[in-house]
Amino acid sequence: MSEPAYPDIYRAADTRYTGTDEHPAVPYRRSGVSGLKLPAITLGLWHNFGSDRPLQNQREILRRAFDRGVTHFDLANNYGPVPGAAEENFGRIMASDFRPYRDELLISSKAGWYMQDGPYGFGGSRKYLVASCDASLKRMGLDYVDIFYHHRPDPETPVEETVAALDHIVRSGRALYVGISSYSPELTRQAQAIAKDLGTPLLIHQPSYSMFNRWIEDELLATCADQGMGVIAFSALAQGLLTDRYLNGVPEDSRLGRHNMDTGFLTDDTLLAIRALNDIAAGRGQTLAQMAIAWVLRRPEVTSALIGASSVEQLDDSLDALKNLDFTDTELTEIDRYAVDRGINQWAKATDSTR
Ligand code: NAP
Repeated sequence: MSEPAYPDIYRAADTRYTGTDEHPAVPYRRSGVSGLKLPAITLGLWHNFGSDRPLQNQREILRRAFDRGVTHFDLANNYGPVPGAAEENFGRIMASDFRPYRDELLISSKAGWYMQDGPYGFGGSRKYLVASCDASLKRMGLDYVDIFYHHRPDPETPVEETVAALDHIVRSGRALYVGISSYSPELTRQAQAIAKDLGTPLLIHQPSYSMFNRWIEDELLATCADQGMGVIAFSALAQGLLTDRYLNGVPEDSRLGRHNMDTGFLTDDTLLAIRALNDIAAGRGQTLAQMAIAWVLRRPEVTSALIGASSVEQLDDSLDALKNLDFTDTELTEIDRYAVDRGINQWAKATDSTR
């Protein structure tokens, strides 16, 4: 067996909060009206951290992220494959590498989407949420998560029950803060009203948002600002469409090539838009991934851009978005020609299910 390319004992980079000549420091932004700051870019473990990926690659990506100041890792009960595998793998790396840094890390998990068969493996019931939170903590080897989310609205469970379950999760010490994901503006207001009554810190909303999926601009961003909630925008790279990944065909090892994304998302028209946006990014001296992240962060309501990465190189590239977060009006107008909804919001049904 070949030797691993990483040292056995991990010591986080001394420059993780200062940056280096080569790489800027990650800014931290306050989540709504709260005491909690998030890195402007967060790493998510939905894909690339399951049982289908080498643990060594996962470890290198996580180490690199923290070495560059990414203090926030976002997980969920069902991330895999198989469901639970990402939390288990993260738990392994937590134990081997990050244990001394627990207080420097913001770790989140969620429940709400399908986790297991039977009546208690999906939805927003107290029964599902509390048990799932316990199972997540066990898999990750943690005493608590920093943020626990309800992962998607559930039209069959009263929102009062769901928010009371989140309140219980905080009061019992399982989580420090709670959040909601893919909730509509109306349901967000309702959930926050209940949370305020209970005195629970519901301080963040996690919706999808990218140049190809702009639904939150209509009302949700203003709602969150109004409710004192931060926004962590997921799939800021449109699952890789807003990168150089598909400029010259579909690589076998890509999310599309591995059949982990709807093939219908990459239409001819979308490819033309990707190419045009890639040219605009080049004009700014950025890669398309970097411009896509900067574009999400241009909105003051957005606390953090939540991205994935299948390699250290991708992560490094994406984090260098921080070198140029500013846009001219002319650039924004030019981007708007191509940054239109392209039918890739696969979470819209869940959002609309309670409307
Ligand atoms: P994304 O950042 O839109 O897509 C990540 C993919 O883009 C990577 O796997 C990689 O694709 C490609 N990529 C990343 N950086 C690149 C670069 N610099 N150059 C070229 N390609 C690059 O995010 P996502 O993985 O869809 O989602 C991010 C996180 O959001 C998840 O891990 C999860 O934490 C969260 N999320 C939450 C929900 C929810 O319901 N709350 C739903 C979805 C996601 P390849 O794999 O092809 O290399």
